[in-house]
Amino acid sequence: MTGASLRVISRDQPVPRLCYGTLAVSPLQRPLTPSLAAHLLNHAAALGITLLDTAEYYNNYPSISIALRAHPSLTIITKSYAWDRPTALASVRKAQRLLRLPHIPVMLMHEQESELTVLGHLSALQTYRELQSSGEIGSVGLSTHRVAGVRAAIKHNMDVVCAIINVDGLGLTDGALPDMERALRDAHDAGLFVIGMKILGGGHLISRRDESIRYALSLDFLDCIALGMSSIAEINYNASLFLGLRPDERAALESARAPRTLMIEEGCVGCGLCAERCGQRAIIMEAGQARAIPERCVRCGYCAAACPQVCIKIV
Ligand code: SF4
Ligand code: SF4
Repeated sequence: MTGASLRVISRDQPVPRLCYGTLAVSPLQRPLTPSLAAHLLNHAAALGITLLDTAEYYNNYPSISIALRAHPSLTIITKSYAWDRPTALASVRKAQRLLRLPHIPVMLMHEQESELTVLGHLSALQTYRELQSSGEIGSVGLSTHRVAGVRAAIKHNMDVVCAIINVDGLGLTDGALPDMERALRDAHDAGLFVIGMKILGGGHLISRRDESIRYALSLDFLDCIALGMSSIAEINYNASLFLGLRPDERAALESARAPRTLMIEEGCVGCGLCAERCGQRAIIMEAGQARAIPERCVRCGYCAAACPQVCIKIV
């Protein structure tokens, strides 16, 4: 399947361009039971939000599998850190087993930085391509926080690219916002299906939510926009905005989340694993302890999953 054919799937979405970012209902950000998380996904699906963005690292395939049973037409976009053939095969088999899906619609290489990192994962990419030829995967691509990552997706003729973009360019780790806009437009023109993510800057832009969403919607090269949603009110609110309707006041009030923050609690043993894990360089080690740099943090929660002492929380 090519990017163009995936674009046909998204054009038919009842809520055009809105993709459910399921990190927001995964154990990395919100410890819901699988059935509670599935309840939110089902509500979104019933409204017509049928694209779901997930990742092996989010550890939320069980919730998505429950939602898939009620809504088999959901299109799942997942990601893996696999770097070679055995790890890529293991990731695809895991997704097929836990999602109970013989065909994985979209498989992305997670957090690719540039041509160099793609070359370092080439064997995984070739494996996905083989599985695409045999019909086990629909489309192949990468996710990235970097302009160079988008350029690498174009160079390797991928079908899909999922990249960070928001009105202030928060979380971009190379180049400036115009560079990312240009790269994503080039990707779109080259036929890739382009997904924008972190349009609220991981929560930094929550007080400018409407402006941030309208900015993303104004970018005609974004085929879809992944938005994390963690309540029924938030789903209703975003569905209205994406449909060009005025959200009702109650949904607006109920869905206005307080900005979250990263907390490093007592118990840090100074192992440095969180700082190594953070692609945003938002944790530094000082005097044998981890310290967060809030203005760099996009609240993805990846560091929390890496901490053996379980002392990092997004609250
Ligand atoms: S991973 Fe946890 S224990 Fe290790 S430095 Fe980070 S916060 Fe401390
Ligand atoms: S500090 Fe943690 S939550 Fe913040 S960007 Fe880095 S990995 Fe993500």
